[in-house]
Amino acid sequence: MTQRQLFLRHLAPTSDIPLMLEIALAEGVYLYDTEGRKILDLISGIGVSSLGHRHPAVENAVRDQVGKYWHTMVYGEFVLTPQVQLARLLCEHLPAQLDSVYFVNSGTEATEGAMKLAKRATGRPEIIACRQAYHGSTQGAASLMCPTDFTQPYHPLLPGIRHINFNDENDLEKINGQTAAVILEVIQAEAGVKTPQNQYFKKLRRRCDKVGALLILDEVQTGFGRTGSLFAFQNQDIVPDVLLLAKGMGGGMPIGAFVASQALMQHFAHHPPLGHITTFGGHPVSCAAAFATLQTLLAGDYISKVKTKEVLFKEQLAHPLVKEIRSAGLLMAVEIGAFDLVLKAVRLCLDRGLLIDWFLFDNCSLRIAPPLIISESEIESACAILRSVFDELYHSKSS
Ligand code: PMP
Repeated sequence: MTQRQLFLRHLAPTSDIPLMLEIALAEGVYLYDTEGRKILDLISGIGVSSLGHRHPAVENAVRDQVGKYWHTMVYGEFVLTPQVQLARLLCEHLPAQLDSVYFVNSGTEATEGAMKLAKRATGRPEIIACRQAYHGSTQGAASLMCPTDFTQPYHPLLPGIRHINFNDENDLEKINGQTAAVILEVIQAEAGVKTPQNQYFKKLRRRCDKVGALLILDEVQTGFGRTGSLFAFQNQDIVPDVLLLAKGMGGGMPIGAFVASQALMQHFAHHPPLGHITTFGGHPVSCAAAFATLQTLLAGDYISKVKTKEVLFKEQLAHPLVKEIRSAGLLMAVEIGAFDLVLKAVRLCLDRGLLIDWFLFDNCSLRIAPPLIISESEIESACAILRSVFDELYHSKSS
């Protein structure tokens, strides 16, 4: 049996339309498949590989840590230098009140931890989330999902979840004395890159303060430079009570975190203790990779160049098929129409050596979220391929 046949036989599927690229090697902005094809990666493993694949600084940090120790004990017991160093560097680059980091394995676990923390700290039963938000796939995080197309068969999920519309000021009144926390993405990624308007987050922060609800911001997809600043909330002139991180954090290694004040985090340790437990959270090798990733992002000009690259993409992607491009730095939704066109575009691009993708809650747009290290000439080559695909789709649509 071939690897592809074994994949189909033994790996549990997530859909009927897997991309099925058979990867041999990944380096920089390129993936190489087993047929020797070189594929330009415009999605970064869905917002993960911001420094590209196997960035030398990250690879060296991993190798170095692998030679010292791997898992030694569950999270929170031993003093492990990669965790301590990473937590300190992260807190140095966050507002003063975000000074305590709980390391976990993934974005969804960060969501779970933050939801529990909010209930524990406030003693309140309800959590408010936005429609068309994505915060993860475990049952607590999945309870936040609305519409329920993906979650209906798994009901009953958590009770006490209410929904508001992103950017809708009138909905803020739904946040009240029963609300433990409001959880939002700073930029709604899976909704097709929806950005905050009219000082929405300032109004939201004010409402949360007024009624004593915590504000949890999910930067799993927008963090670590993706939108042109280290974190997207830094452009909103507010500070969340809890910040969720994952994806780009580990430079390609699995890690997540939720960050809050020490006073808030103390709740997990008392009456009862062990409010959240994780065996592998903050794995030393992942923390070493994340530390090298953050150091590299801070020392280089990757983040400061994001906006220029965003503009270049937008200029180069002008085409009659493209109805709109919504973007927040190098997180972009290119709206081209119905889902069948989106699927065709993804397939045609892949045939021409370019990897793009779609969104969970926006059937009409293509996802573009390349490694931040992508060069201007690589952006030009990528956009030339995209335009050739748009030409083909445009002509077949009008013929
Ligand atoms: N929050 C956001 C905003 C995300 O985009 C994702 C993943 N797409 C998650 C949470 C969940 O992260 P993970 O897949 O690591 O559980």
